[in-house]
Amino acid sequence: MRFDIITLFPEMFKPVMGASIIGRAQERNLIELNFYNIRDFAKNKHRQVDDYPYGGGSGMVLMPQPLFDCFDHIREVHGGTLPKVVYFSPQGDVFNQNMAQSMTKEDELILLCGHYEGIDQRVIDAFVDIELSIGDYILTGGELAAMVFIDCLSRLIPGVLGNPDATIEESFSDNLLEYPQYTRPAVYRGYKVPDVLLSGNHKEIAKWRRKESLEKTLIKRPDLLADAELSSEDRQLLEMIEE
Ligand code: SAM
Repeated sequence: MRFDIITLFPEMFKPVMGASIIGRAQERNLIELNFYNIRDFAKNKHRQVDDYPYGGGSGMVLMPQPLFDCFDHIREVHGGTLPKVVYFSPQGDVFNQNMAQSMTKEDELILLCGHYEGIDQRVIDAFVDIELSIGDYILTGGELAAMVFIDCLSRLIPGVLGNPDATIEESFSDNLLEYPQYTRPAVYRGYKVPDVLLSGNHKEIAKWRRKESLEKTLIKRPDLLADAELSSEDRQLLEMIEE
């Protein structure tokens, strides 16, 4: 999958995206990151890319000219068409696992990172297909949001994670939180791993995990349950847990 990232600060990405699983995914050509520095498209003497907002107010707004030219350039790079454009914005739909899953169907995406007070609305109107927020808070720029997005999508791409089953039973994959995980030793400082996990009885382990998963979701994120696929056994278990 190819990500074309439009940003004022491409240097922010390397330390994070160059490490660990995402770094290896790039080395193995499973994902590709290309950067377009907005400042490279500025036409004025001082390579200025921002200006005061019309109507007054604090802060600066990213100007249309460098961004329109940047999109024109990317369109040329892509042979005359633009892949879907995602703009990271606190005003967008709040990003979640289901959105990540459906966006992995795209081979290429353009990721637009705002800064300062944001981007001139005409750029958004002309080019943006999807506005995404990573939560109800304000960041200084869209770069961290873009990295969250790339990390989340990349690990869903076949081959990026060593074990392809790793994403199947995870939190949110079926609108439930994942069951608790334990590793060796079986007892640590008096804290014991639940007996069932040491029993070798896979049916009982699966039953225990389902119950724990339902219980965790009910306690921590009951809002998820409305969209979860629940069997009649699950519903009975939930009633029991609630009681
Ligand atoms: N003035 C804008 C507003 O009130 O909606 C906020 C601008 S913010 C300081 C600068 C840039 O950071 C935005 O253009 C966007 O790209 C990014 N950003 C900030 N918060 C974000 C969030 N929660 N999710 C995604 N991107 C965010």
